[in-house]
Amino acid sequence: MGQNNIAIIGGGPSGLMAAEVLSESGHAVTVYESMPTVARKFLLAGKSGLNITHSEDYAAFAERFGSASSRLRSALDGFTPDDVRQWAKALGTETFVGSSGRVFPEVMKASPLLRAWLKSLEGRGVKILTRHRWTGFQGKELVFDTPDCKKQVSADATLLALGGASYPRLGSDAAWIPWLDERGVTVAGFEPANCGFDVDWSETFRDRFAGAALKAVTATSEAGTIPGEFVVSKSGIEGSLVYAHTSALRDRLSRGETANLVIDLAPGRTVEKLAKDLGRFDSKTSFSNRLRKGAGLEGVKAALLREVSPDAARLAPLDLAALIKAVPIPLKRPRPIAEAISSAGGVTWSAIDDDYMLRALPGTFVAGEMIDWEAPTGGYLLSACFATGRAAARGIDRWLARRV
Ligand SMILES: Cc1cc2nc3c(=O)[nH]c(=O)nc-3n(C[C@H](O)[C@H](O)[C@H](O)COP(=O)(O)OP(=O)(O)OC[C@H]3O[C@@H](n4cnc5c(N)ncnc54)[C@H](O)[C@@H]3O)c2cc1C
Repeated sequence: MGQNNIAIIGGGPSGLMAAEVLSESGHAVTVYESMPTVARKFLLAGKSGLNITHSEDYAAFAERFGSASSRLRSALDGFTPDDVRQWAKALGTETFVGSSGRVFPEVMKASPLLRAWLKSLEGRGVKILTRHRWTGFQGKELVFDTPDCKKQVSADATLLALGGASYPRLGSDAAWIPWLDERGVTVAGFEPANCGFDVDWSETFRDRFAGAALKAVTATSEAGTIPGEFVVSKSGIEGSLVYAHTSALRDRLSRGETANLVIDLAPGRTVEKLAKDLGRFDSKTSFSNRLRKGAGLEGVKAALLREVSPDAARLAPLDLAALIKAVPIPLKRPRPIAEAISSAGGVTWSAIDDDYMLRALPGTFVAGEMIDWEAPTGGYLLSACFATGRAAARGIDRWLARRV
């Protein structure tokens, strides 16, 4: 097969991974990126400790993508968490497994890995054109706005790796939806994933406890009971334990149902044991002291209990224990998508064949977060972006070979 011209639009992790595979296959690859530099979200992800993949048992790992798990499986099989670690190592970034099973680069940041990656892509002849904003199709050609002019480009195959809709200021603004829609590609509306929720906190609670962390608790929703920690924010709640419940809670709210995140403030003890410990104190002991000595609760944990149930002090030990084990935080709405770590929705699976090609646009492929899947934080997002970038690249290779 001769050298083909491949256009990759979007210089995030999925687009760059596809560029790697396609340039290895000998194609002439150009990455078009609207921003002045590539992979801004990847770099931001590294600001808080780049969680690049997860070390849990692979069968469990591959099920973290909800209803999209079966469609993603062959891409994930082709680039497993072990492969992610090997790949990073080959680029000079050693990784380690944190206590939660999450995998991080030893330096925690994304920048050294990205620098080495871009250098290796450059060495393979990949051209990266920044400040090239794709604005749709003109016939079969791709149209770009650049600082100097409008450009029309024809390519033998195109990969769209445009990202989802969270943090639009970093480039993934989902402006492309109408351009695909008018070509018959179905796109499910984007919604926030891995995001916080608004809660109607009282002014006193908000002023005193915004920023406080609730550690070593469990949280329950239809997503199950999950241990971890979360943070009280000015507008509500945030943090990894909340994110693990986002899709279940968001879907309840969008159906118009009430949604509570139910917190167990004393996960190590049964209701009966807790009731016994709380019952040891007579009515002269203050409520704060009963909570502290009987249940080990003080600070933000004790305040949350009072916030959610102002009459808690009057409850009998058994009822108080039951409340401590299941404090319902009523949620108003998810935080806006612009603040979410990732997004749900995107190009639907029915619009894509097994090679990640758009059924309505032969020769145009998709990868990464712009496809309709979601996953919790924990390195699953980047893993699936890398994996689908590679799978789409292999799909392009196969499609080009069939055309010859
Ligand atoms: C704060 C934060 C922390 C995160 N931390 C982690 C983490 O620790 N672990 C993890 O697994 N995931 C994390 N993520 C998620 C992860 O970064 C994303 O899932 C991933 O970057 C998506 O990759 P992508 O290539 O699909 O899209 P993106 O990274 O969004 O890249 C898409 C690219 O396409 C470009 N583009 C869009 N439209 C056009 C256009 N019209 N023309 C040209 N270019 C265009 C954009 O500018 C962008 O560069 C985090 C996200 C955020 C916001």
